[in-house]
Amino acid sequence: MKIAICGCGIGGLAAAILASRAGFDVTVFDQFDTPKSVGSGLVIQPVGLSVLKQLGAAEAALAKGAKGFHMIGREARSGRLVLDVTYGAPGGENFGLGIHRASLFSALMDVAKAEGIAVTGQHRVISTRLDGQGRFVDFGNGKTLGPFDLVIDTMGVGSTVSRLVAKPLPYGAIWGTVDWPENCKLRYDCLQQRYRRASHMIGVLPIGTIPGDVAPKAALFWSMPRTQIKNWQHMPIDQWRRQATALWPDLAPFTDQITDHSQMIPAVYGHGNLRKPFGERIVHIGDAAHRASPQLGQGANMALLDAAALIKCLELFSLEQALPKYVKARRLHTNIYQAMSWAFTPMYQSDNRALPFLRDYVLSPLSKIPPMPTVLSSLVKGSMIDPMRKLPPS
Ligand SMILES: Cc1cc2nc3c(=O)[nH]c(=O)nc-3n(C[C@H](O)[C@H](O)[C@H](O)COP(=O)(O)OP(=O)(O)OC[C@H]3O[C@@H](n4cnc5c(N)ncnc54)[C@H](O)[C@@H]3O)c2cc1C
Repeated sequence: MKIAICGCGIGGLAAAILASRAGFDVTVFDQFDTPKSVGSGLVIQPVGLSVLKQLGAAEAALAKGAKGFHMIGREARSGRLVLDVTYGAPGGENFGLGIHRASLFSALMDVAKAEGIAVTGQHRVISTRLDGQGRFVDFGNGKTLGPFDLVIDTMGVGSTVSRLVAKPLPYGAIWGTVDWPENCKLRYDCLQQRYRRASHMIGVLPIGTIPGDVAPKAALFWSMPRTQIKNWQHMPIDQWRRQATALWPDLAPFTDQITDHSQMIPAVYGHGNLRKPFGERIVHIGDAAHRASPQLGQGANMALLDAAALIKCLELFSLEQALPKYVKARRLHTNIYQAMSWAFTPMYQSDNRALPFLRDYVLSPLSKIPPMPTVLSSLVKGSMIDPMRKLPPS
């Protein structure tokens, strides 16, 4: 089977490696000039790490990333503990892997290169079209390649062929990568956040090292209404730093490193999913098929799981059967996480006054009563339900 993978991001590389190993003829297209990844840090949860292990990219990712055993969030003024989720005992087998996007990308890209998978850059996909022989991919200026037996759309939020119309979320964030300061008071094995109501949130995530640098890094994020993100470039940096450290004074050694607007990348979020993420000889995975705010830290994991489930179905079933089977295998897991993200995000990122009150004075005390700590832990790990239902393990 000839497969075109459109988009060489997290899901695209995972799908390419697994499809090539399954014996399919794979071509990967991306719009970038040379393979690269933009952005800051993210968390690979245990479910995503199991896919990285299957891909042979876990060792490299573990060598680069930082193991996080705990997630802590406090109300900024009172210091009240609002979010307190543990993966497992510090130093143990259960953790979320904080990692810079570029380190994850290079771990996956190294495996793809070692397996002889060619990535064709400077190919911006405009559309795809079906004819009697298969599906063709159009790149504009009359350039078309194909026919392919299957096109896998892994173009993320920028997909030009997915019909997904995501609902814009009212808050986004600015994200930056900074050095982990020497003699820092904060724990390096923990994601930490501070909140003021739901309108202000600042967080720091240890992410290990980035390619070409041995200094340990952190991802720094600051929540902002979507309307203000547009004006971020015009806000004096000093004023922003004062606001941030007023919320969390211990963060000064991190925020002091931000001296130019270009160090913080604005990100806006959307929420939604495709009811039917496949058509004739085309299937959408990752952010091209479903989007949510990064509050639960699941997006990259979802893309990895989608890729693994899809290629498994293509190995086990005929093309006609494989696409609906893939959707069935992933639907419940994706839907539950979409719903949880939809419910939790406004408690941390909105103008609502009642929800943060509920978060701090009702849900937070409840979250400490068994079995809630275990439930919350499995929620962040991505393992609240089987992520690949009814598929045999690899
Ligand atoms: C600020 C932020 C923080 C996040 N934090 C987390 C986290 O902690 N944990 C987590 O799991 N997830 C997180 N996510 C989400 C995660 O990054 C995405 O869900 C994940 O990258 C989706 O993978 P993907 O393969 O679908 O798309 P991507 O990894 O985005 O890859 C898409 C690829 O398609 C290419 N492309 C796009 N359009 C075209 C085109 N027309 N033609 C050709 N190529 C094209 C792009 O160049 C890119 O290489 C975060 C997202 C953001 C924005």
